[in-house]
Amino acid sequence: MTGSLGELRAANRDQLVRVLETNGPLSRADLMRHTGLSRSTVSNLVAQLIDDHLLQEREGRGTPLNGRGGRPPTLLELSGGTGIVVGVDLGHRHVRAALARPDSSIALERSFALDVDDSPDATIDRVAALIDELLAENGSAREHVRAVAMGVPGPVDRDGRMTSGILPYWRGARPVHALAERTGFTAVVDNDAHMGARGELAYGAARGRRDVIYVKASTGIGAGVIVDGRLVGGSTGEAGELGHVQVDEKGIMCRCGSRGCLETEVSIPKMLELLQAAHDQPLTLERVLVLAEEGDAGVNRALSDAGRRIGRVLADLCTMLNPERIVMGGDIGSASATIAGIRESLDRHAQPNSAAAADVVRGELGVRAELMGAIAVALAASSPTARR
Ligand SMILES: [Zn+2]
Repeated sequence: MTGSLGELRAANRDQLVRVLETNGPLSRADLMRHTGLSRSTVSNLVAQLIDDHLLQEREGRGTPLNGRGGRPPTLLELSGGTGIVVGVDLGHRHVRAALARPDSSIALERSFALDVDDSPDATIDRVAALIDELLAENGSAREHVRAVAMGVPGPVDRDGRMTSGILPYWRGARPVHALAERTGFTAVVDNDAHMGARGELAYGAARGRRDVIYVKASTGIGAGVIVDGRLVGGSTGEAGELGHVQVDEKGIMCRCGSRGCLETEVSIPKMLELLQAAHDQPLTLERVLVLAEEGDAGVNRALSDAGRRIGRVLADLCTMLNPERIVMGGDIGSASATIAGIRESLDRHAQPNSAAAADVVRGELGVRAELMGAIAVALAASSPTARR
């Protein structure tokens, strides 16, 4: 299929699904009226959607196209039910939000600048307002929203309480309660690395795999550990705090209350500080990533050193869990030099069979891993079979 034809078909398909989301079950004739598409186009799209198990037929009372009496036409309804879910990825300086359909296709996606150094209340108010703006832009009624899920940059316990993390004013906050209260929707909140793991598991580099470790290395370092196809939450929901594995018992104090954590040695600020000595202009993360792409020797050395440090910790995890794949995400984590450093440490420090069994790859979803994970979580939370 050529690009433009494929795109047209996808756009028509999206339009058709949206009409069904907004209006509920409709006949083929109703779909022609609502979309302005030809009989054959509607017919083809419907056949394809039924083949994909996204649409189903049911007997009912649609309006015959020519207005004459006779047998009521067959109605078509979305298999996953109607409605939409909202996914939100709250970063340190941005929020990414999307509306998704029951088949997980994206209806609308937006990114905004946001400063989470504000209070949690002010931030959640802003997120709730953004969700309302998205719903209005998409023409979706609030009652069609099935659930909202949000990733946040810090650990969240089973009570929804943030226990530490890089956000100074969020410790002890319960953003899940605030989100449910402000939006009125079923809400789920988890840390960003868990969401990223869910995203790569559902739609990316971990799809179809059973034993995977997802690592997000950026301002902080977190992991989502997938064992036998399920994300490991741990007894309090805080499993996967890779950045707080102690690598030097006499190291500097960490904000988590421990000392010598991996994150106290490997982080974006540490790396910028290290590299700044060799540069006249003030360095930013964006500049560092450009230099890495250009093959700058110093930057790539710093990234591969970071990879080796992270890989040293991952090597033990690899020996313990015997994963088939390690998926790398985050600004630092997905750089080629970092991935090469991790590979080196696994080969050097993990049990040889486990090291050989695990490949190390860049995530397929990039900066959207956490957002897509939030969508997967929201869909799971709103599924009729969800255990809540
Ligand atoms: Zn720590």
